[in-house]
Amino acid sequence: MTMVRQTKQRQAVIEILRHTRTHPDAAWIHNQVRQELPHVSLGTVYRTLDALARDGVITPIERAGQATCYDYRHCGEDHHHAVCRHCGAVFDVDAAYLPPLPQQAFPTGFQVTDIRIEFSGFAPAAPVQQIHKPQAFAPAQML
Ligand SMILES: [Zn+2]
Repeated sequence: MTMVRQTKQRQAVIEILRHTRTHPDAAWIHNQVRQELPHVSLGTVYRTLDALARDGVITPIERAGQATCYDYRHCGEDHHHAVCRHCGAVFDVDAAYLPPLPQQAFPTGFQVTDIRIEFSGFAPAAPVQQIHKPQAFAPAQML
C-alpha cells in the first residue's frame, strides 16, 4: 500500500468523524468512506481507526457486547462519555462539570496529558428491571 493511499484513507476517516456529532462504529464509517473511496476494505478502516486512536486524533468508546464506536476529538470541546449498559447509547459529558483530579492520585512526577473518563450506567429510556444498584461491600464474617 502506498503512502498516498494511506493518507487519503486517513484523511477520509478524519473528515467523516469530524463532521458527525454521533458516535459511529467502524461499519458505519466504512460505509461512508466507500462513497468516496469505493475499494477501501473494512480491515483498512479498522487499522486506520487504530492508528488515529493511537495518535490521539479520535477516542474509541468500548461497549460491552457491542461494536466499539469512535469520537473525533474536537479542539476546545473536552468531554467524556456516558455509555448505557442496556442499549449501548453514548452520551457526551461536558468535562467542565467534573472536578479536577488531585495531583496526589498520580505517581510523583507523572505528567497527565490526556484524561478520558467513561461512565457506565443506564439511559433514561432503559427498562427499569435492567437497573441494578452496585452491591454494598460486605466484609467477610470472622469465625
Ligand atoms: Zn463524544
